[in-house]
Amino acid sequence: MKWKEAVTKLQPYQPGKSIEEVKRQYGLTSITKLASNENPFGCSNLVREAISGYGTSYALYPDGYATNLRAAVAEHVGKKETEIIFGNGSDEIIQIISRSLLYPGRNTVMAAPTFPQYKHNAVIEGADSREVPLIDGEHDLSGMLAAIDNETSVVWLCSPNNPTGIHIPAAELVGFLSKVPKDVLVVLDEAYYEYTDAEDFPDSVKLLDSYENLIILRTFSKIYGLAAFRVGYGIAHEEIIRKLEPAREPFNTNTLGQIAAIAALADQGFISRCKEENKMGLQQYYSFCEAEGLAYYPSQGNFILINFDMDSDEVFQYLLENGYIVRSGRALGFPGWVRVTIGSHEQNEGIIAQMKSLL
Ligand code: PMP
Repeated sequence: MKWKEAVTKLQPYQPGKSIEEVKRQYGLTSITKLASNENPFGCSNLVREAISGYGTSYALYPDGYATNLRAAVAEHVGKKETEIIFGNGSDEIIQIISRSLLYPGRNTVMAAPTFPQYKHNAVIEGADSREVPLIDGEHDLSGMLAAIDNETSVVWLCSPNNPTGIHIPAAELVGFLSKVPKDVLVVLDEAYYEYTDAEDFPDSVKLLDSYENLIILRTFSKIYGLAAFRVGYGIAHEEIIRKLEPAREPFNTNTLGQIAAIAALADQGFISRCKEENKMGLQQYYSFCEAEGLAYYPSQGNFILINFDMDSDEVFQYLLENGYIVRSGRALGFPGWVRVTIGSHEQNEGIIAQMKSLL
């Protein structure tokens, strides 16, 4: 067998320890997972009602075009149905973009550290990744522009960036888009869009009117609380969507996921409440960090990166043994730091007490 050389060097993605695994390993009865930026409040009650009311056979394939969900999302974002592509999570859209545009001899530009799937897929496709270091947690957009050349196919922007939580301000984004060559696809990953409240956060969907080489990625896995269902989407010009569609699995979003996402979208009251809770939760961490003199990045997402200035794996391990799963910054390109998902008020209090006892 002749494997792609790059693939032989890749490790499978390590999603972090599961609650069950940690319980078994440490003999704990209660575990709180604050590691994958999921919504601590779950999802809207409308989702449960919609799912339990589902009466069609499980023997049938899902609607591959996600017709009803497509109509609901198109209305929600104010775009045409033909301007949307669905994925088995936005992870799959990252994969579709990479399959379609990346191959040996081409390169792709991204920040570092950022969401690891951009590079992971580039490696699989045999394209070169040009990683431009963040400056103070922010994208270095001039550095990224300078990294673009005739062989660049895709540029990845993650806003707010995972793991720093810092967003790209509207004016800077527009400046960047106006300078990127038109034959380079700019992917703006807004997985945490619904959590953001910065005044200078861009109205990215509006930017699609001016930039035909832009695709925006959003997901139902974060504030909508549907990570288990795997539904994400991309918004772009029809021409881009039409080119990406052939690389999509025919039945990539499943029947229950589509039903769940439609119901979740209908309950914007739940989304506003979660956003408010998250803002208050972030304040709990800011106060803690300031009181203890720990550096952190103010976050536009539902997670916070904190500098413990000690071995992140040790912090991770200590918190794990005390019932909290977080992400060690070592694997995220931030040795010494730890990324914590904002939980409920009680969960935040609980983990902050453990963090205090470690210092
Ligand atoms: N983009 C970013 C920035 C993320 O943090 C995540 C989830 N961790 C994803 C994309 C993928 O999300 P999903 O596939 O669940 O939609």
